[in-house]
Amino acid sequence: MSRKRIVIVGGGFGGLFTALGLAGAADVSLVSDEDHFVFTPMLYEYLSGEVEEWHIAPRYAELLNDNVNFVQGCVTRIDLTAHSVTVENHKQPLSYDALVLALGGLTNYAGVPGAEQYSIPFRKIQHADRLRQTMVEALDRVPPDLPPQDVKHALTFAVVGGGASGVELSTKMSDLLRDAFKRRHLPGEPRVLVLEMGDKVVPGMGEPIREYVEQALIDSHVELHTLTRVVKVNASSLVTEHGGKQEELDVAAVVWVGGVRINPVIEQLPVSKHGRGLLNVLPTLQLVEHANVFALGDIAYYPDAAPILAGTAQLAFQEADLAAGNVKAFLAGHELKKRQFEELGETVSLGTEKAAVLTGGKAFGGPLARQARFALYTARLPTWHHRLRVGASWFFEGTSPRPLLPLGFERSG
Ligand SMILES: Cc1cc2nc3c(=O)[nH]c(=O)nc-3n(C[C@H](O)[C@H](O)[C@H](O)COP(=O)(O)OP(=O)(O)OC[C@H]3O[C@@H](n4cnc5c(N)ncnc54)[C@H](O)[C@@H]3O)c2cc1C
Repeated sequence: MSRKRIVIVGGGFGGLFTALGLAGAADVSLVSDEDHFVFTPMLYEYLSGEVEEWHIAPRYAELLNDNVNFVQGCVTRIDLTAHSVTVENHKQPLSYDALVLALGGLTNYAGVPGAEQYSIPFRKIQHADRLRQTMVEALDRVPPDLPPQDVKHALTFAVVGGGASGVELSTKMSDLLRDAFKRRHLPGEPRVLVLEMGDKVVPGMGEPIREYVEQALIDSHVELHTLTRVVKVNASSLVTEHGGKQEELDVAAVVWVGGVRINPVIEQLPVSKHGRGLLNVLPTLQLVEHANVFALGDIAYYPDAAPILAGTAQLAFQEADLAAGNVKAFLAGHELKKRQFEELGETVSLGTEKAAVLTGGKAFGGPLARQARFALYTARLPTWHHRLRVGASWFFEGTSPRPLLPLGFERSG
């Protein structure tokens, strides 16, 4: 009898961890557009050089054994009637008996003119590389005798979106730039702004951790502009609107972390959706209309998960365990399970020296919290083998940030 075919689309927190849970259970294929996983919560530390690429972006070839067939390519279409998945540059569509949808979200530019063309998103390794290079190039362009006010003007960076990403990114960028100023003996200081259209930053975050976040923004000299909407982005400036007044500001770069939108492949699926286009799933993670199709992570609306977990890696990671178990049960004709998902605690990186951690309702911050963040995340990395290698590297080789050196040194360093 032929083995059942399971196709998993998307190799992030939902897809990769489902694949690891299903390895060997059937003929399992994982399809993803990149050749590596990204542990997104530490992309900020990758930007600052506190961690290396191999720590947070291991290749699937290293994580998956022969029990999972990895297919690299962009999924362009899913046919739920024909039970097939079309992958760009692959002649034959992949057929499945059970399908797991885990394509995650994409940067949402909210239709702001110029935003997609001129700003830098922050979801992938190459985005962090591009941002780091842009910061270095901007620093390299400043002549040593430029007056301080002109230096500040030339080194103004805007971060659009005051969610956790905006805070983590802006404090990291500001600390890195300020350190570079000292090393290069530049006059004045850099300027990092967070532009947030709501009335406060990190709206979803609990009060105990918020105190640390607000203090960190002050300590890192990040300028916070709430109730400020970005209405246009140009090649070297952006236009903001605040209190009905528009203003154009020259910038060295704009980083866009202003929201997440649904993957177009998911938008095209003719199935029931919740607000914002998320796929409605049953408590077993099955699609309402297709018992052999499971969805999880940022694209799925799971009715019983606490709202605070929506759109988080910790939800996708926990759902992956349920998805793997239920796909096996479905193929074996057994009863499927439901599960209550827990809040596993929260941690935010705050500049290059500090972090804040919320666990068991209590928050703590500072350099110790930064160490705790590294320890906590070591345990969340995929596979024991990878965890051990990375844990040993962080313990023995350290996690100091890598300064923003002139471009030639950056490349050779
Ligand atoms: C910078 C950043 C920091 C974050 N920090 C935290 C944090 O601290 N804590 C937390 O809980 N959450 C955090 N998140 C959110 C978290 O990353 C997501 O909630 C989580 O990754 C969702 O998992 P997922 O499997 O649904 O999607 P993803 O992990 O995004 O995985 C989707 C996968 O699908 C692939 N893909 C997309 N489209 C296609 C296609 N057409 N064809 C093939 N493959 C495709 C992608 O390359 C990716 O591998 C952060 C997100 C970002 C961007």
